[in-house]
Amino acid sequence: MVNAASSQKLTLGDIHITFIPDGSVLFEPTGLLPTTTTQDWQGYQSLLNEQGKLVGSMGAYIVQTANHTLLVDTAYGDKHAEDDILTLHGGALLTNLRQAGFEPDDIDVVFFTHFHTDHVGWTSQRKDGQLSLTFPRARFLTRHAEWQRFDDPATYREGVADTLAVLTGRIELLEDGDELIPGVKVRATPGHTSGHSALVISSGSARAIILGDIFHSTIQLEHPDWTNIYDWDAELAKQTRRQMLQELAQPATIGIGAHFSTSVFGRLLTQDNIYQWQLL
Ligand SMILES: [Zn+2]
Repeated sequence: MVNAASSQKLTLGDIHITFIPDGSVLFEPTGLLPTTTTQDWQGYQSLLNEQGKLVGSMGAYIVQTANHTLLVDTAYGDKHAEDDILTLHGGALLTNLRQAGFEPDDIDVVFFTHFHTDHVGWTSQRKDGQLSLTFPRARFLTRHAEWQRFDDPATYREGVADTLAVLTGRIELLEDGDELIPGVKVRATPGHTSGHSALVISSGSARAIILGDIFHSTIQLEHPDWTNIYDWDAELAKQTRRQMLQELAQPATIGIGAHFSTSVFGRLLTQDNIYQWQLL
């Protein structure tokens, strides 16, 4: 039976990466990937639940290095939403964070792969109408191009308005290739949003890549041309997925997908130019 990932830990040399679940997301498969048919999903029934929905994980990551405790994305928050395509359910992040041995005050850096509601939700909390930061000791960073999207007043901001309000004047902006903290570099991966980023974490010769929403499901690793309805630029997103597959095919590289089911960690195996995803 397929499930959203529970708390998981990966050690990469002297860097520890922990997935902290907040809840789960369910997608209508042909709604999420609108160029697919029910037929296309026949070989992927193991990714679907009994109701035929694509099961996705939802949460955030802690990257622990010698000197930093970095939180990547802040998940969805204590709420629930559903429409024709997806059902989002969050709320468990802080409980799971503590269970994994971290307090909100331990976080000294927060990085956002992109500003969508399921990646920024716990940035602040509202009490008696007042916004307060959930991780008050942290610096907050994202890529310049992602923050710049909101210079345009027409940019969709439902679910992210509180985050934008609380981070205005506080956010620090990085560019492609910048080092976020020692061992962790920002990689521009536009398509899902114009300023979307991945993070490349290196320790010795081993690498892990936090993929954000480049791929929504492991099915897109085998079918990078299957368009995701939430991608801002479908062609650019395909190009980014194809490039990232080549990166993931490099030796000693682990991929970490925000919404992959069962396990967010995996490795891309290649044989005769066919890609296969191995869960870790
Ligand atoms: Zn997402």
